Amino acid sequence: MKAVHVLGNRQIAVEDFPDPTPGEGEVLVHVKASGICGSEMGGYRGDRAQAMNSGHECAGEVIDASRASRLKVGDRVGIAAVWGCGECRWCRAGQNTYCDNRRGLGGAHAELVVAPEIWCPKLDDETPYDVGVLLSGDGLGVPYHVSRRSPTVGGMMVAVVGTGPIGLGHCLVQAFLGAEVIALDLSPARLELAQKLGAAHVVNVSEVDPIEAVGEITRGMLCDKVIEAAGGPQALKTALRIVGKAGTVVACGEQGAVPISPAEDLIRRDITMMGSWFYQFREQPAMVDLYHRGLRVGDLITHHFPLSEAAQGFRVMDEAKSGKVMLEP
Ligand SMILES: [Zn+2]
Ligand SMILES: [Zn+2]
Repeated sequence: MKAVHVLGNRQIAVEDFPDPTPGEGEVLVHVKASGICGSEMGGYRGDRAQAMNSGHECAGEVIDASRASRLKVGDRVGIAAVWGCGECRWCRAGQNTYCDNRRGLGGAHAELVVAPEIWCPKLDDETPYDVGVLLSGDGLGVPYHVSRRSPTVGGMMVAVVGTGPIGLGHCLVQAFLGAEVIALDLSPARLELAQKLGAAHVVNVSEVDPIEAVGEITRGMLCDKVIEAAGGPQALKTALRIVGKAGTVVACGEQGAVPISPAEDLIRRDITMMGSWFYQFREQPAMVDLYHRGLRVGDLITHHFPLSEAAQGFRVMDEAKSGKVMLEP
């Protein structure tokens, strides 16, 4: 099969790799679309070659179900990026991200992947494969899980700090749920996308002071909730400054240690701070419902490239101006 080989130093090749073979309980999937995740950019820019690629968001058609019992050949499926053991109390409750023996999808920028059938949600015939990627992976999963961890009610003032593909997903979901969304980023192109996806206000943090700007928009009240989706220390600091009294900060962008002052940042204004990771498998049907009720999930996707032009796809992601970039084997 053909697959993307990440060579490091922003070099990408599409090469021949051996076809994967399904193990017990697994299916072989012919990938129809795979999304490039922001988390892959570190490896792309770094100086080390990967064994293959770290793609982990895809959807496709089952072409070998001989080791599976639920799925059959021809089924259209998405694949969750996080796989639990399938047996523990968390997995049985559909809370696979809490499984102590979890593993996950890798090498999804390829013609073929294998995956445990229990972590492959079926797609209905009306759902295009590229949308199916978002409905079963990070693209909608991360924003949806945040909306469950910290419920949004209509009229809330919600800021999203960082409007990469995941931040854009937060703008879409939060606006759909009735929040008045303020999007903050450095990129005018991404802020324009945020507006199209439902952000009522945009703040370019390279041009204006974000604390002043949000203060003006909210008439001094600041935000009920701030979602940090940039994964940088400055973004988290900004999030803690633009949250209002008794508000909530959701940390969503992964990063290392950031110094915070409990007294100043949390205690004296009754701030709640929480983390939120990926989505849980039990939430997936509700994500599909939102799509069928009009959530414009497909609008998060701005680019499609054939797998053979994966290098171009990674370049577009690297420019940090796009929404979701899809590769199509
Ligand atoms: Zn990801
Ligand atoms: Zn488990």
